[in-house]
Amino acid sequence: MIVIRRPQDAEAHLADAVMCCPHCGGTLAKWGYARERTVRAPGAATVTVRPRRLRCRNCTTTHILLPTALQPRRADTTEVIGIALAHKVNGLGFRRIATLMGRSESTVRRWLRRATDTHLNWACQQGATRLIQLAPEAFTEIRYAGNQLRYTLTILSAAAYWDRRRCGFEEPPWTLIGMYTRGRLLAPPRSG
Ligand SMILES: [Zn+2]
Repeated sequence: MIVIRRPQDAEAHLADAVMCCPHCGGTLAKWGYARERTVRAPGAATVTVRPRRLRCRNCTTTHILLPTALQPRRADTTEVIGIALAHKVNGLGFRRIATLMGRSESTVRRWLRRATDTHLNWACQQGATRLIQLAPEAFTEIRYAGNQLRYTLTILSAAAYWDRRRCGFEEPPWTLIGMYTRGRLLAPPRSG
């Protein structure tokens, strides 16, 4: 799985051979499309995408190119999961979040459980790396106040804010946050 901020850029990247195989660094070539998938956006809206599939010319591994607005193996967009995490920061429990967002309690509880401290630490480092490149002064102003989830979302949101402001990225903040976290806003689901 390779994640990309703007799937429409992939064609140009492939033509310029700037995308490399994550396994061996080989050149990637188009290899048809993966299965179409429909995921849930905030509220009752849905998003349907048909991700491109790529194949390494060297090691022949195939990779799926997933837009960072989506999360691998999740039925909801990055934004939906991000909003649920933001509700948790604001002190809401999984039942209340589920009601507010029109999702099942079990789904919301599963998301919140996959925001593990280890994963949040990692996600926070990804956001901090980007924020320090963009706006070091903004990074130094953000204080850790004893809540890893709050701190992580603040760092990631600040990076997205400054990316849009300084680099002119027009994608929604959660799509950028999906990019910093390489499509992994949450720790990967447990199998089963
Ligand atoms: Zn390869």
